[in-house]
Amino acid sequence: MNFLRRRLSDSSFISNLPNGYMTDLQRPDPPSPSKAPAPSQAPASSPAAQDRRSTLPTQHGSSGFFSSFSSITNVVKQTAASAAGFVEQSAPSPSLSKKFKILLVIDEPQHEWAKVFRGKKILGDYDIRVEQAEFSEINLVSHSNGTCNVDMQVIRSGTKVVRSFKPDFVLVRQHAFSMAQNEDFRNMIIGLQYAGVPSINSLESIYNLSDKPWAFAQLINNQKRLGSDKFPLIDQTFYPNYKDMITTPNFPVVVKIGHAHSGMGKVKVDNVSDFQDIASVVAITQTYTTTEPFVDAKYDIRVQKIGTDYKAYMRTSISGNWKSNTGSAMLEQVAMTDKYKLWVDACSEIFGGLDICAVKAICGKDGNDYITEVVGSSMQLIGDHQVEDRQLIAEVVLAKMNQVLAAKTSGATRSPARSPQGQKPTTAQPQQVKCLCNVQ
Ligand code: ATP
Repeated sequence: MNFLRRRLSDSSFISNLPNGYMTDLQRPDPPSPSKAPAPSQAPASSPAAQDRRSTLPTQHGSSGFFSSFSSITNVVKQTAASAAGFVEQSAPSPSLSKKFKILLVIDEPQHEWAKVFRGKKILGDYDIRVEQAEFSEINLVSHSNGTCNVDMQVIRSGTKVVRSFKPDFVLVRQHAFSMAQNEDFRNMIIGLQYAGVPSINSLESIYNLSDKPWAFAQLINNQKRLGSDKFPLIDQTFYPNYKDMITTPNFPVVVKIGHAHSGMGKVKVDNVSDFQDIASVVAITQTYTTTEPFVDAKYDIRVQKIGTDYKAYMRTSISGNWKSNTGSAMLEQVAMTDKYKLWVDACSEIFGGLDICAVKAICGKDGNDYITEVVGSSMQLIGDHQVEDRQLIAEVVLAKMNQVLAAKTSGATRSPARSPQGQKPTTAQPQQVKCLCNVQ
């Protein structure tokens, strides 16, 4: 057992951790110059930070992230040419080759993906130009001919940066949807899919994971296929609305309202009158609810898979909160067992395949495991190996970019897209040329 013991005692900080996971407070400074948020600040994924982000994006604009945009020397204004589908960008740095592909990374600025991809090549000699923004900082227009124009407005170190580009590939590292924060970016996922922009994870899977019960239905299929011995899924009941939430056979239960993250919308209910009280709350949320038996937990388990790399973690509450992602907890890396591998492998097959995923489970004091959820490429990285995990994600992205862009290029030469009379057919390769031509 490889231990990563982290004793975390500041509950106000812990309760705000991204996605509820314990990050590494005692880790030595990472090689990257970017600074993690200080404990007194709400980390980026916390509700407070999310709210702040929507109004004050500069809060995340560390100088480290700005350096990832080192090619940007001044504010670039979007022009009529850009609106007409032309790309206007600031001058690329001289070190950049003329041959490049654009990778859009949807993530918080403190994770500097440009550094992770620096020096990497695809399709032999193409550089990768990383454009990074949060969902809230982008907008896009997609056309049926496969063109997708992304406009990005970010504020970094007090400077407004406006960029317009056509992504060749997308890496999605943020939740596309959360009811709790009223952050619904599924329209962006639809737009990217509309233009056929390849991505990790697949846009189809990201869209499908935007409703937890919809994803849970896939886990039910896994359990049917593998049996509950091998895939011990927690019992769950789904209510499309509050109307039939009158009672439930056993208490205590955990009521999970709608699609939300970081412990939000989850309530432990001990008796029928409290259950009816919660049903009255559900009535005004206009969303669905699930209930599941409350598991008296020894610890939570998370098994993650990035490409072909597997890691397992256990998290134990030390503050006594029944949600181990709220309050103080201890995080340890544990050995990958065949059992865990089977769980995560089965989950990685849903929705046409998840390149990056994690399965969450609870180990009860009764000694039984209860699988509760699958998460996709928006999963937060935890533990001591986050730098390595980021490299692994980059490798998965590079492999997929090589595969899909090579296929796109050869496909484009074979079968040009249909276009109206009088217009030249547009194919994947000319789009890239168009982008290159308009880079100043
Ligand atoms: P995410 O942020 O990954 O989208 P979440 O944190 O909002 O998910 P869950 O992981 O389902 O939601 O629940 C939060 C925590 O509550 C879990 O980490 C676990 O400790 C606890 N928990 C969830 N379901 C149960 C249950 N049925 N019985 C006991 N504890 C539970």
